[in-house]
Amino acid sequence: MNIVLLGPPGAGKGPQAKVLSKEFNASHISTGDMLRDAVKKRTPVGKLAKSYMDTGELVPDNIVIGIVTERISQEDMRRGFLLDGFPRNEKQARELDEALRKTGKKVDIVLYFKTSPEISVKRLSGRRVCTGCGANFHVKNMPPKNESSCDYCKGRLIQRDDDKAETVKRRLVIYEKETASLIDYYKKKGTLREVSGDLNVEELFEEIKRLFAKESLRGAT
Ligand code: AMP
Repeated sequence: MNIVLLGPPGAGKGPQAKVLSKEFNASHISTGDMLRDAVKKRTPVGKLAKSYMDTGELVPDNIVIGIVTERISQEDMRRGFLLDGFPRNEKQARELDEALRKTGKKVDIVLYFKTSPEISVKRLSGRRVCTGCGANFHVKNMPPKNESSCDYCKGRLIQRDDDKAETVKRRLVIYEKETASLIDYYKKKGTLREVSGDLNVEELFEEIKRLFAKESLRGAT
């Protein structure tokens, strides 16, 4: 099954993608993670993307579309994928449809994580990320054992630059301006399913499993 996770920054798409990819044995593709990796490795794409990411703006379409189309052409995509953070606007959505069509695939379902702005902001501002292994923590919801080091690899925990208050505000504005229209785009295609991004990871996982069970009974997926 090929799934797109749609929703504002801080909706919990990343943590949910991790549990869903295990449950459905699907590949998790996060454009944010891929871009952060490119920035860390100082590749040409990373150097270009950095200034956009630091200010919460979208990285230009041609770069992101290039990364994703390359990724979805790889062998492990056969077992299905979970796209997290892509598409972010209609151009990206159309290009994704086209790239999938060429390989005989399609987006089967779009999970829209409807999330209140207060919850998004709280999640983002409390998030801490390990500089070593990339694990995510939250100062309140999922505190690390030691405030400044990772439970798994003892790497240093930091706040992402784009999780700082001003950039979070900008990311939410960009979401409304660029990405929210995708709700209608996928509604028209009949693939959109709304779930509550306000729930915690476990509760939402259960909601999604119930949704999928209902859908397969109806033979809709
Ligand atoms: P995320 O981790 O998904 O919140 O993404 C972090 C940042 O990476 C975003 O604020 C953008 O600057 C960039 N980014 C991630 N995915 C995309 C995308 N599909 N299109 C453009 N920029 C993106």
